[in-house]
Amino acid sequence: MEKAPHLAILPSPGMGHLIPLVQFARRLILRTQHNLSITFIIPNDGPLSKSQSAFLDSLPKPITYLLLPPVNFDDLPPDAKIETRISLMVTRSLPSLHQIFNTLIADKTIVALFVDLFGTDAFDVAIQFGVPTYIFFPASAMTLSLLLHLPKLDQMVSCPFRDLPDPVQIPGCIPIYGKDLLDPLQDRNNDAYKCLLHNAKRYMMAKGIVVNSFKELEGGAIEALQAEQPGKPPVYPVGPLIQTGMAESSRDVDKSNSLKWLDGQPCGSVLYICFGSGGTLSSDQVTELAMGLELSEQRFLWVVRTPNDKVTNATYFNAHSHEDHFDFLPKGFLERTKNQGLVVHSWAPQAQILSHGSIGGFLTHCGWSSTLETIVHGVPIICWPLYAEQKMNAQMLTVGLKVGLRAKTNESGIVDRVAVAGVVKGLFEGEEGKGIRIRIQELKEAAANVLSKDGYSTKTLDQLASILKNDV
Ligand code: UDP
Repeated sequence: MEKAPHLAILPSPGMGHLIPLVQFARRLILRTQHNLSITFIIPNDGPLSKSQSAFLDSLPKPITYLLLPPVNFDDLPPDAKIETRISLMVTRSLPSLHQIFNTLIADKTIVALFVDLFGTDAFDVAIQFGVPTYIFFPASAMTLSLLLHLPKLDQMVSCPFRDLPDPVQIPGCIPIYGKDLLDPLQDRNNDAYKCLLHNAKRYMMAKGIVVNSFKELEGGAIEALQAEQPGKPPVYPVGPLIQTGMAESSRDVDKSNSLKWLDGQPCGSVLYICFGSGGTLSSDQVTELAMGLELSEQRFLWVVRTPNDKVTNATYFNAHSHEDHFDFLPKGFLERTKNQGLVVHSWAPQAQILSHGSIGGFLTHCGWSSTLETIVHGVPIICWPLYAEQKMNAQMLTVGLKVGLRAKTNESGIVDRVAVAGVVKGLFEGEEGKGIRIRIQELKEAAANVLSKDGYSTKTLDQLASILKNDV
């Protein structure tokens, strides 16, 4: 009997990478009428976080997953950047990936290996087995355009990008100053930069690149990505792919009761605040944010993390595993705001929260999944970028698409309480907020259209599925 085609997917670590890849897998299976099976191969450096395990354990058949043996990072300096760790986790997993391929290939017809932005070293294994290689790019088309342009930029520019007097012209995108380019591009001597450049150069080896975006959101970037260029792989925009369809089970596991609390709030009245899976604020910033929320008198639902004064992505690998206390919040804050807001520790069911009618705004770190989730649900944005490519996303949302306000920092790099209250009031009550609500509603409709039966993203995915099946 002919074997059904099988995909191997290797996500690089982090929920922000895993969630969209799983959504992509679910949708591919749906569009191929289940005539496809998928194995997620998970690199790691030790036990998975609670959120990762729960997420992977809830994968629907015919999606399965297996864990690679943990890699060892004892030799890395303690200040090794997250991008270096993510990239090395894939590279150091190659021998075990080779073994897995040996086993899988014995009883499955693997038609493709998908990796994400940091996983291109895994191409070497796939190529040895004659398996076509693809990239699923979970960030914006703008970031993809920048990374495809990076090898050239690296040759053209000799100084740090932030010292360039003029903004960088990323093909098809709004100009971005060097200081706002993604984090690992900020220090060109750091290993994180070298890892990213190494991966970016290998993007051209892919047979195709799937990007989680759509034309109405990033028309210029997608047009530039799809322009003919010798050797450049075809780019398939299939977004916005976000977490959906788990509303009831989320209510069961929503220990914070945030959804129940939202049920009791007026329509469009609550500001949701969350900094993705990894975002953390300094102690001073947590205090100013808390006091600013109180000052704004706006209803809020805040996913709070224990402050970290050294880095802004302290919980990237373990968003769930911090102690459950709020001692670091300003004295009396919880008592004073008990009728105004709800504070939740570490993690909340964001996809369901954003789809709740009581939500009227989202103060976000502008991770790409959070960005897409807020657009799909038409929730106006306050941009508070922290790390990775979030400053670029914030620029796109505020200056390019005009669907968000930006929280302004003072000379010490802090958004103080007055600025917090001002931006919150601006979004809910100001003229700017009104315009934002109209524009984000238009984007919401465009997002629903591209995912409809005859929508562009659906057709693009079908086209890709048919290429994959014909590769059997
Ligand atoms: N997320 C969530 N609950 C939380 C924090 C994050 O469900 O309390 C989800 C969020 O919905 C999104 C992902 O985790 O799907 C975070 O991805 P994003 O790209 O926004 O940020 P990253 O975590 O990669 O910085």
